Amino acid sequence: MTLSSLLRITPRLAPAAARRSTRALSVSSGAPPTRTSLDSILIANRGEIALRVGQTAAEHGIRVTTLYTDPDSRSQHALSSPFAFNLGSVSAYLDGDRIIEIAKKEGCQGIHPGYGFLSENSAFARKCTEAGLVFIGPPWKAIEDMGDKSRSKEIMIAAGVPCVPGYHGQNQDPHFLEDEADKITYPVLIKAIKGGGGKGMRIATTKAEFQAQLESAKSEALNSFGDDHVLVEKYITTPRHIEVQVFADKYGNSVALGERDCSIQRRHQKILEESPAPHLPDATRKDIWAKARSAALAVGYEGAGTVEFIFDNDTGKFYFMEMNTRLQVEHPVTEMVTGQDLVHWQIMVSEGAPLPLTQEEVEEKIARNGHAIEARIYAENPDQGFIPDSGRLLHVRTPKTSDDIRIDAGFVEGDDVSAHYDPMISKLIVRGETREEAILKLGAALEQYEVAGPVTNIEFIKKLCRSPDFIAGAVETGYIEKHREELFSSKAIDDELFAQVALACLHRDMHAASGASHTLIGSEIGFAPSYQQRQFSFTESTGPADDGPIFTVRVQQIADKFYRIEVGERVFESVESQIDSDTNVVTSFFPHTRLDTTVVQDEDTIIAFQQGIQYRLKVPRAKWMEKALGMKDIANSVLAPMPCKVLRVEVQAGDEVEKDQPLVVIESMKMETVIRSPHRGIIARVVHQKGDQCKSGTPLVEFAEEE
Ligand code: ADP
Ligand code: ADP
Ligand code: MG
Repeated sequence: MTLSSLLRITPRLAPAAARRSTRALSVSSGAPPTRTSLDSILIANRGEIALRVGQTAAEHGIRVTTLYTDPDSRSQHALSSPFAFNLGSVSAYLDGDRIIEIAKKEGCQGIHPGYGFLSENSAFARKCTEAGLVFIGPPWKAIEDMGDKSRSKEIMIAAGVPCVPGYHGQNQDPHFLEDEADKITYPVLIKAIKGGGGKGMRIATTKAEFQAQLESAKSEALNSFGDDHVLVEKYITTPRHIEVQVFADKYGNSVALGERDCSIQRRHQKILEESPAPHLPDATRKDIWAKARSAALAVGYEGAGTVEFIFDNDTGKFYFMEMNTRLQVEHPVTEMVTGQDLVHWQIMVSEGAPLPLTQEEVEEKIARNGHAIEARIYAENPDQGFIPDSGRLLHVRTPKTSDDIRIDAGFVEGDDVSAHYDPMISKLIVRGETREEAILKLGAALEQYEVAGPVTNIEFIKKLCRSPDFIAGAVETGYIEKHREELFSSKAIDDELFAQVALACLHRDMHAASGASHTLIGSEIGFAPSYQQRQFSFTESTGPADDGPIFTVRVQQIADKFYRIEVGERVFESVESQIDSDTNVVTSFFPHTRLDTTVVQDEDTIIAFQQGIQYRLKVPRAKWMEKALGMKDIANSVLAPMPCKVLRVEVQAGDEVEKDQPLVVIESMKMETVIRSPHRGIIARVVHQKGDQCKSGTPLVEFAEEE
């Protein structure tokens, strides 16, 4: 007996389900495509998407082989299958040949590429096919055609799908492109034709800016995609990102599974996605679905794809932007409003089954299923331009899941969010009868979502959920920028929070004193017969280097479980309090209220969760300690603001630099950042060279001592 038959837990539903609901779909034209049954697949991806694909595979008795790299060896997707292979180095998820070899050796019939990595690599898809493996995705030719933003636009124009006015031809002469930009009229957007993930894209608002922006787009494109061809198109000033989930089978059937509005973005990257798109006139909605189906048919599409449109809020017109020839990060939104498992659909289509539902059947389901929203939970710092963060997840508490609340996560408490990969921790997807209900549910679920360790965007998304214009559905891609003041404000921390954090620190210091090898946080300021009195100092923390006001808290134990607490001028004479060491929850009875606060410490950062709000505090380091730790040197250096790779070094030792002069260009995941000189000075040493991987806080260049 083979292992695959042993692992076949449930009977296969695929062919039956497909047969049941294909009445209105044609399966006629020409010779029937071959039907392959997939009973063993390899998942060529990591994190949440690898787990998500694996889950559907398991539900249908399909054996899963999983891959990992050295930094991922203990990650959840690697541990999820008994058939797990180490590819080695960090970037080995891109090693298509090795992956195909493993799939063949393991007897897999197909490869699911997830999203990112190899999912839109037509050469890989082609090699799979040539190796006799089913690539669970579209035909390689469709990937190739759609992977080129210029070529895809030509195909769309020919198929009658509207495109943003612009130039997307071969001529790359900078002056010619500038002439084209003049014709389009400013502002224009310059886009790398091989671009993705928001990279290689620059806006020129005036003619004067054009050449510099062109240069910058080309350089980023060359670095990221090895190709610096660009196109130029009209920049839509108040756009919405509206995309349509399409599916096509081998018989020429195609359906649109509704649209998703993904306008809430930062750095051209989505953070909230919802379906249906708010306030989209019904006629436009039907039209956009029809255009998306035409787009899929025009490229001979099969499987899951997303046709992205840019919707002009000023004119109500929409234009084709690009087609993503894969499953999207945000596909669960569509699953919630259609009640379908899109990974199962992908498998069925790859096996040669016709689509399980007709367009009319899909529309019936959409009409009944209300509204869904997805929030992407990232390890990143919104207060510092959303720079990615990484590190160990010291504490994770997730909202309770149900039919209407789904979490797709790649991590659990104790896991490391690696600086080597995308910093997305999880996706929280909620469904409500109406959009209002969905937003309320999302807000409530986020209040139950606690993550300590890396900085996350959870607090930021909570603010979005309370933002009146978002609630009103007045979305656009510039939303975050336009609502900056409202979204980045923070409210003052209550005295009670400081009091409870100090109580947790006192508790921890007591334990440290009684043996454990922790450093003490507070300083001893008195000694009652058997009770301690201590003083603690905290600052509010929004990033690695901020020196806000210092808050001082004195705690004095006055009886078993009773404390006198001074927070600045405020005095709580007697607070009954206790701490649960397993959950880190401090429960305190103040004269006016009871508060349960989770307090987690991560070196000199303290993360507290109280009444659905997260707070980050820092224990300021004493000056003598900074000296002892050799931090003086750092004072004269420019530090990496996030885990990154050095792309270019723009200066050398001995150079005299001006304030704001570029020093180093770094890359972290999908973002290129220019590190500029904080002041005028002379460079003493370049610490890291092109290609180096750096941790957050590593010195990049050192300045000479000032006389
Ligand atoms: P979607 O359109 O589904 O929202 P994105 O365009 O944000 O997805 O990209 C999906 C995934 O693909 C990302 O999470 C990332 O892992 C990967 N990805 C996208 N662009 C790039 C890129 N330029 N380099 C590496 N990975 C990328
Ligand atoms: P990528 O392949 O990097 O995802 P897209 O072409 O899909 O690139 O564009 C990404 C984002 O950039 C869109 O979601 C939208 O916010 C913005 N964008 C793209 N084209 C335009 C345009 N012509 N005008 C204004 N914004 C645009
Ligand atoms: Mg895109």
